[in-house]
Amino acid sequence: LPSDLDTDQRVRADDRGHVFHSWSAQALIDPLPVAGGEGATFWDYAGNSYLDFSSQLVNLNLGHQHPDLVRAIQEQAGRLATIQPSMANDVRGDLARRISEVAPDGMSKVFFTNGGADANENAVRMARLVTGRRKVLSAYRSYHGNTTTAISLTGDPRRWANEPGDGSVAHFFGPYPYRSAFHASSDEEEAERALAHLEQTIILEGASTIAAIILETVVGTNGVLIPPPGYLAGVRELCDRYGIIYIADEVMVGFGRIGEWFAFQAYDVAPDLITFAKGVNSGYVPLGGVVISDRIAAHFDTVAFPGGLTYSGHPLACAAGVATFEVFERDGILERVRDLGSRVVEPRLREMAARHPSVGDVRGRGLFWAIELVRDRETREPLVPFNAGGKDAAPMGEVAAACKSGGVWPFTHFNRLHVAPPLVISEDDLTRGLDVIDRALSAADAYAH
Ligand code: PLP
Repeated sequence: LPSDLDTDQRVRADDRGHVFHSWSAQALIDPLPVAGGEGATFWDYAGNSYLDFSSQLVNLNLGHQHPDLVRAIQEQAGRLATIQPSMANDVRGDLARRISEVAPDGMSKVFFTNGGADANENAVRMARLVTGRRKVLSAYRSYHGNTTTAISLTGDPRRWANEPGDGSVAHFFGPYPYRSAFHASSDEEEAERALAHLEQTIILEGASTIAAIILETVVGTNGVLIPPPGYLAGVRELCDRYGIIYIADEVMVGFGRIGEWFAFQAYDVAPDLITFAKGVNSGYVPLGGVVISDRIAAHFDTVAFPGGLTYSGHPLACAAGVATFEVFERDGILERVRDLGSRVVEPRLREMAARHPSVGDVRGRGLFWAIELVRDRETREPLVPFNAGGKDAAPMGEVAAACKSGGVWPFTHFNRLHVAPPLVISEDDLTRGLDVIDRALSAADAYAH
């Protein structure tokens, strides 16, 4: 790749001088200037290219610069670049219909938002209005977004500095077989005990006060936690029993990440509200939304829904969403994800787990996997402590640096490395990226005993 160090310097100077970054101590970061990308690869101005094993923020499901998405946005921009939400628009309606067609029966309507956080805000708002109750239960080890209610729902340290937020949220433990909060010794026991704990939480918080339970179907950033068999069906059952709305947060795992339109479809359950964003159009133009059950939608047939956004159902975003459906269907993306996940990624990660003393657990589905790193496989002491920063996080920094110097851009969080490449990655690139990760794990092995 050609190097363009003058541009690199200019981009760095503007960024460091003027861009205030998310979640960061501004003086302690050094953002990589990115010159371009194509498919599963992006490159900088210095001539380095990276396989994007984090799909940016696990949103770039169809990869960089997908020609169909780019063309759809260009055509829509040439036709009608924007229109406000209270008018009817062809691509907005087309996308809403397509989403409802792949959602469970009886979920025919879609409220569009700008992203995942506001999708969750509005789903909770709907649940509160329909039930006349206020409280929402969410899991520790979860992320639901950065606005007041969404960050309060979040069960990770990003909530802490934002407290007090929405006071009507209570947290519970979801299943996590590798580090069971319930001392369970099998997946079945984990599901059973996690459900008993959830039911106790409902009873002690007061069922009559609880509007909704929100759950990431597969917990994303907080660990690629796969629900053990029976867990989600049990949550559905508890929601029915206590008159609680079940909100599935599909922001990270919807639209193909695990080889399903919506991840809960792999577990045979149907929620009352689905929130989505990211993969719906690979983030080419910001878009999220709520898929609404007919029962909940009917509540707002004659009573106004008290919520809205200037850019709800933005035509450029929806055009990219319609193109996403066309690509998924034409190119068999869901089948491809299941195939690559079970034939290429899973066996390779299991084989790495057997060979590397630092690998405590590997888990995942489709093109969404976590490698959980430990210092000791017996005690499961994590490679770095929970929420480690600075010096404490150095071992993970070394693993990430080894990935980058091998040409793979990794997703790391606490003591985990996630594997979440674009769903269009070639089998060769996928294998090449896994080779790089395999070698990078020796940096973690050096700390393991
Ligand atoms: N929910 C989940 C599961 C997410 O992973 C995210 C973002 O990472 C969000 C919600 C928030 O989405 P957004 O950043 O688009 O507001």
